[in-house]
Amino acid sequence: MAIREPLIHEIAPKTWMINEFGSNNMYVIEGSERALVVDAGTAYCDFRKIIESLTDKPYDVAITHAHPDHIGMMHQFERVYVNKLELGSIPDPDAPTDKMASGFGSQDITGYPTEPCKKYSELVRDGQASEAFQNLAGYTSDMHGFEMVDRFFADEPPVWECTPDMINRGTLDTELVFIDEGYEFDLGDRKVKTMFLPGHTRGHLLFIDPKNRIAFTGDCVNGNNGSSFHAASTHIRYLEKFIAEYGKSYDRIFNGHITYSRRLNFRSESINVVKNLANAYRALMRGEAEIIEQAFHLNPNGPKRRLVVYGSGTDEDPRVTPQVPPMLWEDGEEHLIP
Ligand SMILES: [Zn+2]
Repeated sequence: MAIREPLIHEIAPKTWMINEFGSNNMYVIEGSERALVVDAGTAYCDFRKIIESLTDKPYDVAITHAHPDHIGMMHQFERVYVNKLELGSIPDPDAPTDKMASGFGSQDITGYPTEPCKKYSELVRDGQASEAFQNLAGYTSDMHGFEMVDRFFADEPPVWECTPDMINRGTLDTELVFIDEGYEFDLGDRKVKTMFLPGHTRGHLLFIDPKNRIAFTGDCVNGNNGSSFHAASTHIRYLEKFIAEYGKSYDRIFNGHITYSRRLNFRSESINVVKNLANAYRALMRGEAEIIEQAFHLNPNGPKRRLVVYGSGTDEDPRVTPQVPPMLWEDGEEHLIP
């Protein structure tokens, strides 16, 4: 029999990971006065009810980045915190279709506005933002997000059952509150800090809880991390900043997809993944990278993606496959490998 409820794990005291049917992980962090929720999942549960079963404190919902598997249930909440630059991830609905992403987070970005367009504001006000992102992702139905993810490890036994009656995107007119690096969520005895790490998306944020020494990283340091918005040189510098902080205020990394598809492992991601990401970009800049072309599993009929392969695949040397970034150096930058 397959599981029809999201799985909840307590990964540290008063800190829960919610596995939404292998699609995404959301987190609830409770302090003495308030709680913080990281990300709003895909579509398939009453997320608000789950949060309120874990904590009776007032809480805020912070979004790492505006992909459909991280904001899908944002309209269950009156207000979410997000980086303004994420609004650039949605194109003007009237833009020519060849300027729109056919697979999210990865394609031609030339048609994307960097300021919130009027139409985007209307979509948010009308409670339609998550649907708009879903269209952007190329999902053909509300169930598409689950079905694409679930088949990633299709050779392993089924774990989840998701049916259309479980879809709950919420209907509230969600207010967006814009935050950036340095913003602090004061939960009482826990202060959660915001860090900026773009690359996977333009305005990606991560959240650090020094009390339990955890970084909640969304998709910004995953081994398959894209780099669509910056040159490799810039991306390396942001990754190095994250690596430099490791061991000071955090030594566990919980990303948005620790438990992916049918796999239920929920251990912290290795810092070696992040080091190999930086090294993959360095290999590109040296002209030594191994590059493959691969279909994107969430959009198998879309254009193939060019990925860098780095690492042998062991725990010490994990294999990463970041996307080839649009440039190696920023315009006018000296060609020195950081
Ligand atoms: Zn993402």
